[in-house]
Amino acid sequence: MASSLNELNPRLLWKHFAKILTIPHCSGNEKALGDYVLGVAASLGLPGKRDKVGNVLVGKPATSGREGAVGAILQGHLDMVCEKNSDKVHDFGKDPIQPEIKGEWIYAKGTTLGADNGIGLAAALAVMEDKSLVHGPLEFLFTVDEETGLTGANKIQKGFLSGKMLLNLDSEDEGVFTIGCAGGADSTLVLPLERKKTASKNLYRLHVHGFRGGHSGIDINQGRGNAIKLLARVLEQAQASAKFEIVSLEGGSKHNAIPREAVAMLACPPIQVRSMTMALKKAFDKIQVEYKAVEPGASYKLEAASGKDFALTRDCQGALLDFLMAVPHGVIAMHPEIAGLVETSTNLAIVRTGKASFEVLCSTRSSVASALEATRDVIKSVSALAGAKAELKDGYPGWMPNLESPLLKKLKEIYAKGFDKEAEVVAIHAGLECGIIGEKFPGMDMISFGPTMKNPHSPEEHVHIGSVEKFWAFLTMALDSLSA
Ligand SMILES: [Zn+2]
Repeated sequence: MASSLNELNPRLLWKHFAKILTIPHCSGNEKALGDYVLGVAASLGLPGKRDKVGNVLVGKPATSGREGAVGAILQGHLDMVCEKNSDKVHDFGKDPIQPEIKGEWIYAKGTTLGADNGIGLAAALAVMEDKSLVHGPLEFLFTVDEETGLTGANKIQKGFLSGKMLLNLDSEDEGVFTIGCAGGADSTLVLPLERKKTASKNLYRLHVHGFRGGHSGIDINQGRGNAIKLLARVLEQAQASAKFEIVSLEGGSKHNAIPREAVAMLACPPIQVRSMTMALKKAFDKIQVEYKAVEPGASYKLEAASGKDFALTRDCQGALLDFLMAVPHGVIAMHPEIAGLVETSTNLAIVRTGKASFEVLCSTRSSVASALEATRDVIKSVSALAGAKAELKDGYPGWMPNLESPLLKKLKEIYAKGFDKEAEVVAIHAGLECGIIGEKFPGMDMISFGPTMKNPHSPEEHVHIGSVEKFWAFLTMALDSLSA
């Protein structure tokens, strides 16, 4: 078994990966790694440049006889997610990542490894350096700050690239080709509130919790409960048989997380507490039965709270609950051709109550731009009906799967021939740099693939050594065949 990265194959790729581990490159701090890439290019006599935000581009001329081939772009991101275990002493600003080979896998000691996207970058650098490869005209694009908001890709200027096909090396399953992703956009809805003249002292805190939540791009089709929606439903049903007043309603934490818990502050006169308690229980019991398979941990707690506060007027309380009941959440449409792929979804992500207004954040995704727009229009219409104001923020574009792509067709053939096995073709319901690049460079034929890695973005991140070898074999075969 290899004890150091330098004993692994392909040698050139691991050499560059070992070097990348020694250069700090958390998101926002990619300068030194960009310098390394430009240094490698310069030492090979290849032209390199850097744009204003730090994206780096290197060119490599075609092998002789392949000059007429369509230009290909190899692309990856320079930055990595920097996470460490709480007991690990590590300064990501200067300390090298310490790799550790365990059987067929490479881990880092107590930190993220940065195989996402360090392996992709190392592969691109190895292609740059390897003189034995056969290929058409190549460009190597290294973007900054993918992990925190795709900002590097977002800032690429038109004209920066000249190739017509793009191989994104930022995927996490060997043998799987990604050919599409979702675009997304957030909407903020603001409902004005009216409060009563007298403050109530009889306050109760209703906390619904124990829901599984998850990532709104990955788990939205799992049928999990949205704690905000279910809290609204419980209150809506309970208010039919019990008198209580809503003071505030809060829930959710991130735009891309399905809310796991939500809290309502309620005012209720002592004489009504029993009927409120029973009505809430009756409504929540139904949810527990309905969701017992997916949300076994779903629970709630009602407890007396201290202080005094102004409750909403009766009309306003009704409007608020109607609004939350009607704002859409969940899967809107599945992709008609790719089994299991969510095409359009929306996440009712966060609610916050102020003194005079109630704010709702919705995060919508779709791989089809017009469907994204239509779903946001629905959200806007619901807001208008409720008397709320909708602010539709700019989003990021999706990458619509093209099952007729010539690049996809060729790569499938190359994979099947090389490995005697069909590659799997997928699209994802989250954002990728290809969505943005595709919008800026219309007609760009794109695909994403990579080696197998697990638990990226966490100190458990690890990459499969054998899959890196296969990824390299495929990449080099592809460059040859695509230029033939
Ligand atoms: Zn990545």
